[in-house]
Amino acid sequence: MLIGVYPGTFDPITKGHLDIIERASALCQELIIGVYENSSKRPLFPVKQRVELIEKAIAGFPNVRVESFQGLVVNFMHAAGARVMFRGLRAGSDFEREFGMTLLNKKLAPDVELVCLMASSQYQFLSSTLIKEFALLGGNLEDLVPAHVAVALKDKVSTDFPRD
Ligand code: ADP
Repeated sequence: MLIGVYPGTFDPITKGHLDIIERASALCQELIIGVYENSSKRPLFPVKQRVELIEKAIAGFPNVRVESFQGLVVNFMHAAGARVMFRGLRAGSDFEREFGMTLLNKKLAPDVELVCLMASSQYQFLSSTLIKEFALLGGNLEDLVPAHVAVALKDKVSTDFPRD
């Protein structure tokens, strides 16, 4: 049985991530979305909420589940019996980053293979960072994130960055 892991910060999950989830889940029997608990990106949403937002977004995918983890992704993968790591590649700097991380991961876990899926054209320029900036400025998030994520973003922005 081929088990894959799609790791990331998912702060919050976007339709670009969901596109990768849909395509990656068609390539393996089980796909685990691994959410970094200690992301160096200083996430806006706490890990519990990032996981909850993903859980709701993947309700239609029977072979996908989500778990948070600490430490090295290859250790998380070994514990789950997963051999394939999925990542999404957008135009620009994603490739350099993935390449560097893969070389390191290969040293730690030669059995783990990386599969990069090219971002679909409509999501090439979509990132969680952009989404948060957009939400802060009151932009319409409808085409970019699932509806429940747009609601969570609006709530978060109004609580954490209240306007007077
Ligand atoms: P990380 O902190 O690991 O980069 P992210 O949540 O930002 O976590 O991204 C997780 C993965 O999803 C990465 O492989 C990233 O390149 C990919 N990704 C992010 N946004 C998109 C998108 N719009 N289309 C395709 N892949 C994406």
